Amino acid sequence: MPHNKLSEHSDDVYSCMRCGFCIKCPLYEINGWASNTARGRIQMARGVLENKLELSNYIAERAFSCTTCDFCVLFCPSGIHTTDIIKTLKYELAKRVYGPSSINRILENIVREGNPYGEPKSNRGSWLRDEDK
Ligand code: SF4
Ligand code: SF4
Repeated sequence: MPHNKLSEHSDDVYSCMRCGFCIKCPLYEINGWASNTARGRIQMARGVLENKLELSNYIAERAFSCTTCDFCVLFCPSGIHTTDIIKTLKYELAKRVYGPSSINRILENIVREGNPYGEPKSNRGSWLRDEDK
């Protein structure tokens, strides 16, 4: 189960022996980037935990590209629930306002207009019929 803080996953993060059995991630199949594997994302989580990783939207793009499909969980000999760590990593990054541009746009829309679509607040009642206004 994902937690609110990466520190609560530290036992699992430090149990990763970087064996690479989890590099069967479908995203890794697409572009071959080590950061697109559960192992890569767990090393990111470790970097965040130890304050050794300079956070950026680029890092967040790698973390958020995980679809949390759970496929990698099937292959981990250490029994690490990789997706729980990755979900918490996403949460920690989002709290620090790092995320993929698509999600950042949604957050900005909610803050600015109070809805995820960026529709102006002034149009809020536009769907009502004139007689309902
Ligand atoms: S399979 Fe498990 S122990 Fe091995 S690298 Fe992946 S997460 Fe770490
Ligand atoms: S849960 Fe994420 S890291 Fe694991 S196989 Fe699916 S997309 Fe890849």
